[in-house]
Amino acid sequence: MTNSLYRGRFAPSPTGDPHLGTLIAAVASYLQARSKSGEWLLRIEDVDTTRRVTGSDSAIMSTLERLGFEWDQEVTWQSRRTEQYQQALEQLMAEERVFPCTCSRKLLAQTAGEISGVYPGTCRSNRLPLAHPHAIRLRVDDIMIHFDDAVSGEYRQSLVDECGDFVIKRRDGLFAYQLAVVVDDALQGITEVVRGADLLDSTPRQIFLQRCLGYSQPDYVHLPLILDPQGRKLSKSEGAAELNADKPAASLHKALAHLGQQPPLALMHAGVTDIWQWALENWEIGKIPTTHAAW
Ligand code: GLU
Ligand code: ZN
Repeated sequence: MTNSLYRGRFAPSPTGDPHLGTLIAAVASYLQARSKSGEWLLRIEDVDTTRRVTGSDSAIMSTLERLGFEWDQEVTWQSRRTEQYQQALEQLMAEERVFPCTCSRKLLAQTAGEISGVYPGTCRSNRLPLAHPHAIRLRVDDIMIHFDDAVSGEYRQSLVDECGDFVIKRRDGLFAYQLAVVVDDALQGITEVVRGADLLDSTPRQIFLQRCLGYSQPDYVHLPLILDPQGRKLSKSEGAAELNADKPAASLHKALAHLGQQPPLALMHAGVTDIWQWALENWEIGKIPTTHAAW
C-alpha cells in the first residue's frame, strides 16, 4: 500500500474504443504518480450518459490491464455519483451563485458575444425554483484566472470575456462535466491533474468552481495533442488504429515517444514489465514537448 501525499488519476470518457490519445494521458498520469510513489485512481467519466457507448468502459479497463497498468482503490463511475454533485449544487444554490437559464440553443447562437460560446447573461436575474425546463448556470466573477501548467506554462483566462456564466446542470437534468470533474477531483483528494491539452481552456472554469466550493486547487499538467499530418487533431478512429492491446510494448513505446521520453527502439519488442521499468526509471516530465506534434 502506498500512503503518500501525491494522488493522481486517469479519467477517460467511455465514448468509444480506447485510442492513442487515451493511452498518452494514461501513461503520463501513471508515470507522474508512480515516480512520486503516489496513488493512481481510475475514474470512468460517464456523467454524460447520452454519449456513453456500451462496453467502452470495460474495453478501456481491459486494455489498461493488458498494458500493465495497476490502479489503486476501486474504479469510480460518475453516473453513480449524482448525490455528490447534487450536494455541491445545493451549496452553490445556498450561496446564490447559480441561476436557471431557459435560453434555447438558437437564442444562445444569436446572442453570443464576439468569442463564440460566451454567455451574454440573459437569464442572470432569474430565480430558482422555476417551472420551465432550464439549465443551471454558475455566475462568474469578473476576474482573470491564471495558473502555471507544468508543461504548457502560464495560462490566463478572463472568465467574463472568454467564457461567461457556465452550465453546471444541463437542461436534460444531467450534471455538466465541469461540475462533476471538480467535485470528483476534490472528494478523491487528487493533488495533480494530468490530461490532454484539449481541456486547457476548461481549467479556469474548474479553478473558479473549486474556489466557489471551498476546495483546494490541484496542480495541472496538460499534454500535447496528437495531430494528423494536416495539423488536425487525430480522429478517434485513426488513434484507435495506433493502439493495439495485442502489442502492448509497441503501443506503450508510441505513447512514450509522443511524450518526448525517447525510449530505446529495442523496447518495442520488450515485455510489458521491462518497458514499464525503463519508463519509470527514465521518466522526465521536462521532456514532454510543449507543442502539439504531428503523428
Ligand atoms: N473525461 C475527459 C476525457 O476523456 C477527461 C477529463 C479530465 O481528465 O479531467 O476527455
Ligand atoms: Zn439564459
